[in-house]
Amino acid sequence: MPAVSLREILQPAFKARYGVGAFNIVNDLTMAAVLDAAVEVKSPVIIQVSVKTVKMWGAKLLQQMFAEMASHRPVPATLHLDHCPDIETIKTCLEAGWNSALFDASSLSYQDNLRLCKEVVTFAKKYGAGVEGELEAVRGIEDDVGSDVEGELIPVERCVEFIEATGIDCFAPAIGTAHGLYKTEPKINFERVEAIVARCPTPIVLHGGTGLSSGTFQKLIAAGCAKVNISTMLKITFADSFKSYLEAKPNEYDPMKLQKAVHGDLVKMAKGFMETFGSAGRA
Ligand SMILES: [Zn+2]
Repeated sequence: MPAVSLREILQPAFKARYGVGAFNIVNDLTMAAVLDAAVEVKSPVIIQVSVKTVKMWGAKLLQQMFAEMASHRPVPATLHLDHCPDIETIKTCLEAGWNSALFDASSLSYQDNLRLCKEVVTFAKKYGAGVEGELEAVRGIEDDVGSDVEGELIPVERCVEFIEATGIDCFAPAIGTAHGLYKTEPKINFERVEAIVARCPTPIVLHGGTGLSSGTFQKLIAAGCAKVNISTMLKITFADSFKSYLEAKPNEYDPMKLQKAVHGDLVKMAKGFMETFGSAGRA
């Protein structure tokens, strides 16, 4: 089916309290595998791309690839730009037909973030596109974004003010999760999600999904996390799958067989998350 907006994916998920996986794809193979997983379990899905990947392939090619792949798969899918501090890059993507972007001005002051985020939302609306907003940096660096230290927590009242004043479609607060792999069990701030949602019913975004337990996912999704980002696990599955195939078949030089094996592992990985998040069967 044709691509849908981020709002069309997140609003039903937020209302029914299931999570939709936003998988950071890196190329055609990973994009196809995530979409195929969604088809197999009948799940809505968010194809998410980091700025680093956009720089590698180009905004236009990624959008055209997505539009073509999504058009003949019968599940709601949307194309989203992950952490982007640069408004020009967001504009390039939205002009190319992307559905939404995370405007990441977490390094700026509250006032500057608010002002610029409003501008991004206004611009996005012209294209029928959505915006994810963020106030505090998510801990852990992934694809050159993020921070080594946890940002200072902004009071819930100001988060609510930010969500309402900007008109963003979803909000990513710092809740104790981190990008990359967890070295120790993270301390999740469930209360913060509940407090924001209680004051302002907006889909919350969970960054740093890789490595969390099923119980943590389910508790956060029940509290209002409707978008669940998975990046690290896709990369691990992608690389490990190539490795194990080549180790098992060192004399096999047919790239199609190799890619088919990697595709199969990626589908399995994505399906697992879709089942855990409760999005399976919702498309
Ligand atoms: Zn993130």
